[in-house]
Amino acid sequence: MIRKFDFLVIGSGVAGMSYALKVADAGKGKVAIVCKTTLEEANTAKAQGGIASVTNLKVDNFEKHIKDTMVAGDFISNPAAVEQVVKNAPQGIRDLVKWGVNFDKNEKGDFDLHREGGHSEFRILHHADDTGFEIQRGLMEAVRRHPNITILENHFAVEIITQHHLGIEVTRRTPDIECYGAYVLDPDTQKIDTFLSKVTLMATGGTGAVYATTTNPNIATGDGIAMVYRAKGTVEGMEFVQFHPTALFHPGETHPAYLITEAMRGYGGILRLPNGEEFMQKYDKRLSLAPRDIVARAIDKEMKIHGLDHVCLDVTHKDAEETKHHFPNIYAKCLSIGIDITKQYIPVVPCAHYMCGGIKVDLNACSSIRRLYAVGECSCTGLHGGNRLASNSLIEAVVYADAAARHSLEVIDQYAFNEKIPEWNDEGTMSNEEKVLIAQDMKEVGQIMSNYVGIVRSDLRLKRAWTRLDLLYEETEELFKRVKATKDICELRNMINVGYLITRQAIERKESRGLHYTIDYPKHAYDQK
Ligand SMILES: Cc1cc2nc3c(=O)[nH]c(=O)nc-3n(C[C@H](O)[C@H](O)[C@H](O)COP(=O)(O)OP(=O)(O)OC[C@H]3O[C@@H](n4cnc5c(N)ncnc54)[C@H](O)[C@@H]3O)c2cc1C
Repeated sequence: MIRKFDFLVIGSGVAGMSYALKVADAGKGKVAIVCKTTLEEANTAKAQGGIASVTNLKVDNFEKHIKDTMVAGDFISNPAAVEQVVKNAPQGIRDLVKWGVNFDKNEKGDFDLHREGGHSEFRILHHADDTGFEIQRGLMEAVRRHPNITILENHFAVEIITQHHLGIEVTRRTPDIECYGAYVLDPDTQKIDTFLSKVTLMATGGTGAVYATTTNPNIATGDGIAMVYRAKGTVEGMEFVQFHPTALFHPGETHPAYLITEAMRGYGGILRLPNGEEFMQKYDKRLSLAPRDIVARAIDKEMKIHGLDHVCLDVTHKDAEETKHHFPNIYAKCLSIGIDITKQYIPVVPCAHYMCGGIKVDLNACSSIRRLYAVGECSCTGLHGGNRLASNSLIEAVVYADAAARHSLEVIDQYAFNEKIPEWNDEGTMSNEEKVLIAQDMKEVGQIMSNYVGIVRSDLRLKRAWTRLDLLYEETEELFKRVKATKDICELRNMINVGYLITRQAIERKESRGLHYTIDYPKHAYDQK
């Protein structure tokens, strides 16, 4: 079946929905949002802390937010992207409020501002500790109300359509690659439909699910990044994966893993090996209170040295009633798996949290492929550089969705639907009876990435990951040609592609910078000379 939408939006998080609302308001054509599960299942809904924007002009200003972002990014952020996000953030907040998103206010009626690690001022707007859920709720209600927006849940985008599908050779050197829409798997017919568009927005979110343990939901398999890479678009910054130091180690619950908030270390929690030995004194004089990256690296190193699958966080020395009072949810959660945190250690493990890299875009969110935009966690605007400043990602998505909407509204009249695109050809393929192959390979990707391309890297581990991923790639591509495309096999292909990109770009960076740390090049490139 062929379907036509002027604006095709792939993804229903903060990035996809903000863009859809902007272009739909302009009334310049039909807008479709496709998402691979339900509208609400997105990283956006999991965000807890908040969204950064300079708000209290008595003490804060754009220069301070810009400086904090550059410092966090280890000075390789793109200054133009940083300026664009910081200066347009207040308008982004006004847009969210207009669409029905609520942020907490103080008794004077001003926004209640939090301050987070790396921010020199109080500038984090929030909705209790479930800001992302509130943003997702507000935007979902707004897109559902909008007469110009068609919502297609459980629709899985398989590939973007380019000249390649017209039989024209497309390589990474082809200058004018164009996107004509996407092939999308229909959940009812299990057939792949052709979605033609005048412009397409990739807003498919992050990549946490390529690791064995992640705070991200299962949807975060990096599909958009993989699709664009296969279509010969430019992807960069993939070596910069942010890890959260303390997720609950519970093998049955890894996507998403339950977060043990950093506030627990602030409360006096001590990191220990399972035998009770403390280890943070070897790494930082602030001990368990050291910054997120240092703690994550220390835990990773101890796990590798001792061959452990987790370390422990200990609050047993604290008053039991106080612990229950401060952390009622964590107490209840751990108790539900048989751990009384007032008497027993909490098993914790670092886990993948945020992807700073992705589809390379310019200030208008244009990718290297014409008629294709990318916004949100799947994109690489240059804002984060080597490391993300807390609460900068939601606002980046809102600001770049606006830039993408403006640009696409300006150019859309130049484009027509490409009627020559052939329908997806699955002749000669058969149903895959060997689901175990896919399930096993997905597990393997997670283990390879967590063990070899995790927080602390080395040339040897990265090379080993590369070889293993290459083997999985060959086997999976061979299987993909023989069987009917399903969501599972498409996700596996995407995970292998994303794993490969993280590994390759990590191998290429011959220094330790931002989130990328390798024992073979432990310093910045300029310090090694
Ligand atoms: C636990 C947690 C806490 C966080 N806390 C904060 C915070 O406090 N502040 C902050 O700024 N950031 C935070 N972040 C990061 C932030 O939430 C994300 O970066 C941001 O929400 C990403 O939004 P997005 O729209 O790009 O993607 P998402 O919200 O992940 O949406 C992706 C969408 O793409 C769809 N999709 C994916 N692949 C396909 C496909 N093949 N076909 C069709 N649809 C597809 C999905 O179905 C989904 O609708 C946090 C993240 C996590 C996980």
